[in-house]
Amino acid sequence: MKKISIIIPAYNEEESLPMLYDRIEKLINSINSYEFEVLFVNDGSKDNTIKLIKEFRQKDNRICYIDFSRNFGKEIAMIAGLDYAKGDCVIFMDADLQDPPELIPELIKYWEEGYDDVYARRSSRKGETFLKKFTSKMYYKVLQSLTRIPIQKDTGDFRLLDRRCVNALKKLRESQRCSKSMFSWIGYNKKEVLYERDPRIAGSTKWNYRRLIDLAIDGITSFTTSPLRISTYLSIPTFLSLFVYFIYVIIKCFIVNEAVQAYQAIILLILFFSGIQILLFGVIGEYLGRIFNETKNRPLYFVNEYNEEKEMNE
Ligand code: UDP
Ligand code: MG
Repeated sequence: MKKISIIIPAYNEEESLPMLYDRIEKLINSINSYEFEVLFVNDGSKDNTIKLIKEFRQKDNRICYIDFSRNFGKEIAMIAGLDYAKGDCVIFMDADLQDPPELIPELIKYWEEGYDDVYARRSSRKGETFLKKFTSKMYYKVLQSLTRIPIQKDTGDFRLLDRRCVNALKKLRESQRCSKSMFSWIGYNKKEVLYERDPRIAGSTKWNYRRLIDLAIDGITSFTTSPLRISTYLSIPTFLSLFVYFIYVIIKCFIVNEAVQAYQAIILLILFFSGIQILLFGVIGEYLGRIFNETKNRPLYFVNEYNEEKEMNE
C-alpha cells in the first residue's frame, strides 16, 4: 500500500489544532486505499502546541512529529518535514485550516494520473485585505518579469509532491529558503487544482507587512540575480547624458566660439566619474551574482525519464 505523508508546520497553533485534527482524522479514515502519516513540525511554539500533538499521537499512531529546538520559520519547518517524511508522496498543509483537507482526494487523484506536483491554486482569498491581495498580485508580476522560470500565481504551499520531487527538493540545501521558487525551479509535471481559500479558523496570522517584505525580498533574491544588473543598466543613461552634454559643450566652444565655463567642466566630470563608478558596481555585481549562484551548490539538472524509466533522484 502506498504511503502518503501530510506535513503540517505549526507555530503557536493550539487553538486550531483540535479542529484540524478532527477534520484530518475524518478524511484519512475515509480513504482506505492508502496508508497515512501526519507529520507535524512544531516550529518552537510557545503555547501548548507540542502538548496537543503528543496527545494526538497517543490516540493515533499515524500522527508523527518533529519538535524544533526553537522557532526557525516555516521554510525551514517545511524542509525538515521533507527530510523526515516517509511517504511515497507528501502533502503540505497549513495548521490553520486555510487549506481544506477535503481537497486532498483530488490532489491524490491527479497524482495517480501521473502528475508529480499537484498544487492548489486559490480561486478566492476570503478574509484578506484589499491591500494584501493587491500587493501579492503586483509581486507576482514583478517576480515573473525578472525570471524565465514560470511562477505559479496565487499558490501557497498547499500541494502534493511525488517522492522524486521530495528527493529533488532535499538536494537544495540553501539556508535562505524560498520554497515557492524551488517548487518552480525543480520542474516536473505540474497540475493545478482550484480551491477556495478559507479564512484562518482560529488564532492569529503570523503574517504582517514586515514579514511580507522579507518574503518578497527573499523571493526575488533567491529566484534571480537580476537586481544586481540595475547598476549596469543605470550607467547607460549616465554615459548617454555625458555624451550629449559633451557634444553640446564642444559645439558651443568651437562653433559658437564661447569659452568653456567652469560649471560645464564640473558637470562633465561628475557625469564621467559617476558613470564609471556605477558601471564598476555593475561589474562587481556580475561576479557577485556568479558567486551567489555557485555557493548555492544546487544540482545542475533533474532528469524526468531515463530510457522510459522514471528517475527518482536517489
Ligand atoms: N508557521 C511556522 N513557523 C512560523 C510561522 C508560521 O511553522 O514561524 C506555520 C503556521 O503555524 C501555519 C503556517 O506556517 O501552519 C502558515 O502561517 P500563517 O497562517 O500565520 O500564515 P498566512 O496563512 O497568514 O500566510
Ligand atoms: Mg494562514
